[in-house]
Amino acid sequence: MEKEGQGGGSVIAFNDITEQKKYQESLELINQILEKQAATDPLTGIYNRMKFSKVLGNEMKRAERHGTQLAVMLLDIDKFKSINDTYGHLDGDNVLKSLIQLLAQNIRSRDILARWGGEEFILLAPGTDLEGGRLIAEKLRLAVAECDFPIPRPVTSSFGVAAFQPGDTELTLTNRADQALYRAKEQGRNRVEVL
Ligand code: GH3
Ligand code: MG
Ligand code: MG
Repeated sequence: MEKEGQGGGSVIAFNDITEQKKYQESLELINQILEKQAATDPLTGIYNRMKFSKVLGNEMKRAERHGTQLAVMLLDIDKFKSINDTYGHLDGDNVLKSLIQLLAQNIRSRDILARWGGEEFILLAPGTDLEGGRLIAEKLRLAVAECDFPIPRPVTSSFGVAAFQPGDTELTLTNRADQALYRAKEQGRNRVEVL
């Protein structure tokens, strides 16, 4: 391959078709890596909020079109600031990573988990109604409360669950889950609320 300067730009001349193919393949690989990076939360390796929003948009369209169910739940670690303050930020990070491993083991392959921000995570459960969502959240809440985290203290979490209703936007749906989460916190934490 040869690069020739042309004014401000450059032209890549290929000696043969195989070289051109190899070049295209490496560009595709770089694109794939960049795309994955742009969609991933670096600490936990799960989807970030931007990617989640895309997936949620698609799943909502599907639910609207086919009349299928869709549950969304927000999880917030209880008193996480005190975990950081007591054991340090590094142990706090390790709690977040362990939590994701635990959640990943306890969800179905079609469910989508993402980092919503800080110590808040969001789960999308296609084909699941509000009651189904509540059951999933309850199972996860218990798994978290019973798990041995890498700190000498139990970790608990609160959940807000909402289900897709025709006419919902991403904002109205996630706002309901957020309001339910707020209620779970208000009512004492380590609990699930639905709205
Ligand atoms: P609540 O039960 O009401 O949710 O209390 P909380 O302490 O969990 O909530 P608060 O919003 O007061 O604190 C959240 C803390 O999470 C504060 C912030 O420093 C910490 N945090 C956010 N992102 C990260 C992170 O990536 N790593 C670590 N170690 N801490 C983080
Ligand atoms: Mg929070
Ligand atoms: Mg919290």
